[in-house]
Amino acid sequence: MKIQVASLIAAAVMAVSPLAWADDHYKTFDQAAQAALTPDQALSLLKEGNARFVAGESIDRDLIEQQKATSSGQFPFAVVLSCLDSRSAPEVVFDQGVGDLFVGRVAGNVVDTNLLGSFEFATAAAGSKLIVVMGHTACGAVKGACDGVELGNLTALLDEIEPAIDAVSTPVGADRSSANTAFVNDVIETNVRMQVNELLRRSDVVRGLVDAGQVKVVGAVHDISTGEVTFL
Ligand SMILES: [Zn+2]
Repeated sequence: MKIQVASLIAAAVMAVSPLAWADDHYKTFDQAAQAALTPDQALSLLKEGNARFVAGESIDRDLIEQQKATSSGQFPFAVVLSCLDSRSAPEVVFDQGVGDLFVGRVAGNVVDTNLLGSFEFATAAAGSKLIVVMGHTACGAVKGACDGVELGNLTALLDEIEPAIDAVSTPVGADRSSANTAFVNDVIETNVRMQVNELLRRSDVVRGLVDAGQVKVVGAVHDISTGEVTFL
């Protein structure tokens, strides 16, 4: 479906709910549509987008038209922190276009001061309604951390995943290396939960927005085999 941004925006925003507006026309968000969206509706948009991706029904967007429509301003409805992994790109996995998502990416999807500052900008200043911390199956960063890999600056990055490894208990004598897929999957999910907590603990700004009901922070795991994203 091609997008006819300029002619439809004003009427559509006034006439229908933001959710239906986004569903019907697949335009990028403008300020009014973003402001009208609730955190739960933002989450629904991501779930619907992932369902389209999994079904092979991603929208045939006119990205050049979206680029033009957003050139004078951006109003993304959600923020995603994901891994560096080439198979876990949020815009693709959630079937979103130009101007729809703020995306922060780092191996192992761990939060740091720079990312927290970025997310505070995205929500408090730029109006996004949802922050998703998304890990993924077969994560090389988590596997590397499990195996105690050391390499230049990567060593310090992988240290950030250590608390998740320590938090996952296994039977005595169990393999706690990357060869144990069940263990790795537990660490991946635990790391996501811990990064969500870390984000809320370290950002007064985001926590304030969450307490006020203006923003939601959720964890998720992307299965790189099926494409499916499971929200925790
Ligand atoms: Zn990864």
